[in-house]
Amino acid sequence: MSLELYPIGELPPVGEVPAQMHASLILEKRFNQDQPGKAFETEIVDVPPIGSSEVLVAVMAAGVNYNNIWAARGIPLNVIKQHARRWRDESEFHIGGSDASGIVYKVGEEVHDVKVGDRVVVHCGIWDPNDPELQPDGDPMFAPSFTIWGFGSNYGSFAQFTKVQEHQCMPKAAHLTWEEAAAPTLVGATAYRMLTHWTPNKVKEGDVVLVWGGAGGLGTMAIQIASHFGGVPIAVVSSEERGEYCMKLGAKGFINRKNSKYTHWGRMPDWDSGEYSKWVRGVAAFNGDLLRIIQGVVGERRPPRIVFEHSAQDTMPTSIVVAAEDGMVVICAGTSGYNLDVDARYLWDFQKRLQGSHFANGEQAIAFNQLVVDGEIEPCLGQVFGFEQVGEAHQLMYEGKHQPGKMVILVGAEREGLGREA
Ligand code: NAP
Repeated sequence: MSLELYPIGELPPVGEVPAQMHASLILEKRFNQDQPGKAFETEIVDVPPIGSSEVLVAVMAAGVNYNNIWAARGIPLNVIKQHARRWRDESEFHIGGSDASGIVYKVGEEVHDVKVGDRVVVHCGIWDPNDPELQPDGDPMFAPSFTIWGFGSNYGSFAQFTKVQEHQCMPKAAHLTWEEAAAPTLVGATAYRMLTHWTPNKVKEGDVVLVWGGAGGLGTMAIQIASHFGGVPIAVVSSEERGEYCMKLGAKGFINRKNSKYTHWGRMPDWDSGEYSKWVRGVAAFNGDLLRIIQGVVGERRPPRIVFEHSAQDTMPTSIVVAAEDGMVVICAGTSGYNLDVDARYLWDFQKRLQGSHFANGEQAIAFNQLVVDGEIEPCLGQVFGFEQVGEAHQLMYEGKHQPGKMVILVGAEREGLGREA
């Protein structure tokens, strides 16, 4: 007989949905700017009903992403208020989690391509298929209805069950464990779009790609995708150990941003201030070291045709300087702050491009997942946590104290042994 509620690590027979589930909830009263990890607590809630084109997935493992640090801090927006406004969701909690591996337990009556029992990974792009902007074949990334599941919507993957749209479900790579499978999709699909979408600056044979945070979630994927397309990835990291990790993934060189010669991180001083020449010396030291590394790899001082940005405020002025003429700085985040200083002379004189990019459309998510299924991309699993450690994992990420690779929370796969099942 099915239970109303199962302990973490146990699941009912496939297709039987209990009334309630354990979930890691963020509540408004727990928003915490300095200690976002404290915003999460495990509570019991109803399993959400699904709509006719939706799918209920039993989460086996859930990837940790930076977006739910923002959700837990309550800035720059209050996700719970946003759910109420946008989705008329009066639950007054937020279940984060924008990466999952799991098993399909229920499908809506209009779902055709996904069936109960399928082993899937979930990409985090959601949109209204009837959005006029998508007719006949628009990019959903530009559609007003686009948002990120588990951040812009409720019922993400930090729970025993999650509610997703049919197209979000993609085949799980058979050779990966649940926790490995839950690691790469969000960061990988994002990096895939950044490196392959922005014509003419799509990565190609011989292009040098400078990857900030090479040992982090996005960076590990950018290194591998750039390599896959014949590019020459050079990683920026904060320790020699993280640099070695990037080299094992296919980086052709790395540069340690903590080197004391680099005195220029942060906002760029005004060009006519006394501080500017000191800033230029720091950038010149970094650029010189970078070009020497590149020369050692490709035999010439070939500047990066793509700079893969997300660290933002601290690094953007440097990115703009080091990018090649006709090169592109492509950015998807503002980890160190949103104010980007750009020396406009580099943009117009050298005709460089600064391009924003956000997650990925369905084709890009599927193309990235195929690389994972084919074993071309290593999922880069980092630390693995139990379900009670959702907050701890986010706090580590917020403080930058997590180990290289992608952090994952075990949910259905928490019982010892189960997580090892492919
Ligand atoms: P992550 O695993 O924490 O990696 C980020 C890396 O950036 C860190 O490991 C760190 O590496 C480096 N870094 C941090 N602060 C830096 C600074 N001030 N200067 C230079 N490097 C710095 O995070 P992630 O998963 O890669 O995500 C990174 C950012 O992208 C987050 O803000 C996230 O929200 C955003 N994101 C956006 C999208 C999108 O679709 N828009 C998708 C995925 C992620 P070192 O210390 O080794 O240098």
